[in-house]
Amino acid sequence: MPALDLFPTSIYKAPLGRAFGALANRRLADEIAALTAADAAGRRWSARHYLGGYTSYGSLDQLHRVATPFAALGRALAPHADRFARLLHWDLQGGSLALTDCWANVLPAGSGHSLHLHPNSVLSGTYYVMVPRGAAALKFEDPRLALAMAAPPRRPSAPMARRPFVSVPARAGEVILFESWLRHEVPPARFTGERISISFNFAWTPRRRPGGSP
Ligand code: FE
Repeated sequence: MPALDLFPTSIYKAPLGRAFGALANRRLADEIAALTAADAAGRRWSARHYLGGYTSYGSLDQLHRVATPFAALGRALAPHADRFARLLHWDLQGGSLALTDCWANVLPAGSGHSLHLHPNSVLSGTYYVMVPRGAAALKFEDPRLALAMAAPPRRPSAPMARRPFVSVPARAGEVILFESWLRHEVPPARFTGERISISFNFAWTPRRRPGGSP
């Protein structure tokens, strides 16, 4: 077919790795349970902005700096961020990717997180601590949708890469990475238990020049 497919949008998904096993995942789950009980400011913020669930986004959004299990998660995420950057052919120009934000999310059945993006970052993602059967997948929107003013809709039978919305399921222990400008959401779903995840942002830290400002 005489067509070139250009400007792809890549989503990275992988198990976090053997070094970060079930024990580390359980430590995170315990830490998040303790956090949910102790973080009154976070519960107040969640009551206004994260209806039905708990997130530390509004209260403790740098957990990798304050709690050991999250610091371990940050170390385990770094090689995945680097791998994704290579896949995207990013030229970091001697700089590096740095984990800047890391927060916990607990969603019960019937609660969701509406369409959003992550400003001031280059890579974002989510690590899944607990995903009950039936819990929602992470749903991505075609970033060109706002430009498709008079474009016909796409057939339901279109292949995944040609659909306007794609849901990417993940299991506990897996990480999903995406470029921070890509809009995504977690639709409400019916399931038993809690969908527990940790979201994070990476920034591009430029190379430091000796004797000068970065
Ligand atoms: Fe998000």
